[in-house]
Amino acid sequence: MNPDQTKKTLVLRGVGVSPGVAIGRVYRFNPLDSQVSLYKLNSPSLIPGEILRFKKAVKESEHQLLGIQRNLKKTKVTEPLYVIDVHILILKDKKFINRTIKNIQRLKINAEWAVRLTLDRYEQIFEKVEDNYIRGRVSDIRNVSQRILSNLAGKKKESVWVNDEKVIVVAQDISPANTVQMKLDKVIGFATDAGGRTSHTAIVARDMELPAVVGLDNITRFVRTGDEIIVDGISGLVVVNPYPEMSQRYEEKKLLHSAARDEYLKDAKSPAITIDRYAVNIGCNIEFVEEIPSAIAHGAEHIGLYRTEFIYINRQELPTEEDHYENYRQVVGTKDLLWSTIRTFDLGGDKFPSSQKPVKELNPQMGLRAIRFCLKEVEIFKSQLRAIWRAGAYGKTRILFPMISSVEEIVEAKRLLEETRKELMAQGENIASEMEIGAMIEVPAAVVIADKLAREVDFFSIGTNDLIQYSLAIDRSNERLTYLYEPLHPAVLKLVKSVVDTAHEAGIRVSMCGEMAGDPMCTLILLGMELDELSMNHLAVPRIKKIIRESKLEESKLLLEKALSFNMASEVREYVQNYMKERFPVEFQNEND
Ligand code: PEP
Ligand code: MG
Repeated sequence: MNPDQTKKTLVLRGVGVSPGVAIGRVYRFNPLDSQVSLYKLNSPSLIPGEILRFKKAVKESEHQLLGIQRNLKKTKVTEPLYVIDVHILILKDKKFINRTIKNIQRLKINAEWAVRLTLDRYEQIFEKVEDNYIRGRVSDIRNVSQRILSNLAGKKKESVWVNDEKVIVVAQDISPANTVQMKLDKVIGFATDAGGRTSHTAIVARDMELPAVVGLDNITRFVRTGDEIIVDGISGLVVVNPYPEMSQRYEEKKLLHSAARDEYLKDAKSPAITIDRYAVNIGCNIEFVEEIPSAIAHGAEHIGLYRTEFIYINRQELPTEEDHYENYRQVVGTKDLLWSTIRTFDLGGDKFPSSQKPVKELNPQMGLRAIRFCLKEVEIFKSQLRAIWRAGAYGKTRILFPMISSVEEIVEAKRLLEETRKELMAQGENIASEMEIGAMIEVPAAVVIADKLAREVDFFSIGTNDLIQYSLAIDRSNERLTYLYEPLHPAVLKLVKSVVDTAHEAGIRVSMCGEMAGDPMCTLILLGMELDELSMNHLAVPRIKKIIRESKLEESKLLLEKALSFNMASEVREYVQNYMKERFPVEFQNEND
């Protein structure tokens, strides 16, 4: 690197959502930057022609999106497909189209201006929506509008690159369609103002194994195309115009990270068995069937959590039993996987099927979601249950019910499961001969009655994402509260330990599928609790397995005991962090937190 020393060095902190270090030049991507001319039509006779121009641009946009979709289907980056579906739906939305046409007619303005006004209107409407997730969806309308504007301007070129240099993309946010425009082979990292762990940027970056930091708030204000920049997806830091020594330090960190990654991958398939022979079964969490090959390549032994709700969100109509079945068939019975855990849909809250109007709830996270929604919408639920039974005929399948907070819920879910089994048997369908039933333990009430729930199920899966949210009263999607979101909080440790102990007393297995399971800083603590299984994102698998292989159950129990003796979360974190860094210097050498 050859930094321009006249420029100020700036260090920005965001959320590291894809590990690794990227060092390079910025490509400042701003889809709304296109130069559009806005003008009044000087004669009403021009109105029909302007409307026609707008309609042609809409058609052209749809045509392009369908083309992007076709190309995407040929690549391994298939996750954005559903968002492109949403973009096509917006293009067909009568309100969007009619509002723009009315703008042209009433205000006698050109199509570009009319599109801009429609977008402004939607931005105003969405700004008032309380729900973060829904409010964030305005970015889809923004993206679609930009595409129409580009087509109105006759900009057909899909690629945004000026030259062939590899770049770090800095943007407010990145939509799946943007990523396709980007020639991903020229991208070495991402840094965005918006986004969190589950944003499109994060998903694509992890998929492509590119370092990414999101949620930087206002990085787009500080950087220009051509600026030198470091993206540290491990610690969530971005350095703009680094000093030479800084660049050098990060070059080393980058090398260490890729060496460590290659090293991890070499042994990824070795089992996670401690030196003193305690075995933990390591699985992957997936949201799309396309993730299975990466899961296996990174050493996952089973699918510990298949979040099936995306099957609903991804389409206009409700999925049929056949749609479910075909989807699960691609998961169940995959060679190299011991079993697949299919979690029944966790819809409601902030996730709704496209066909269903979201009900505005004041507290969606505590609303009619997951099992509560399933038990209300029994027919939707039963079509999923039937498909799981049928797919289960082809390989070991476990069913997992989310958000259980009472014995009644699990009893009712089981009753419906049995009812569907009998119906399928009567129809002579080929179904699983047996099915392990699990309850997600993610509501504090479920922890308290875990002994009673254990009598009803074959296994527990601890969902720490929600368990922490509900026990510490921290909205997991509120960026301002991330400093309080602490898996090593003494309350969380006690809750998790109590679930594991209760499960074992009842003779059932216990897994963890929340993010905590894939956090290497927590691995020894979880080992000390004697969890049977841990399920995580694929990138975390090799590292967690390696830490377990180099540990002793005995030492992890001592660490846990010590951790449980502290009163304050900060004390636990400090102690565990120091212990882990000292005990696994190579594993944690890249962490500066
Ligand atoms: C959890 O809550 O920890 C979990 C794994 O479920 P989700 O993140 O899908 O709510
Ligand atoms: Mg959950």
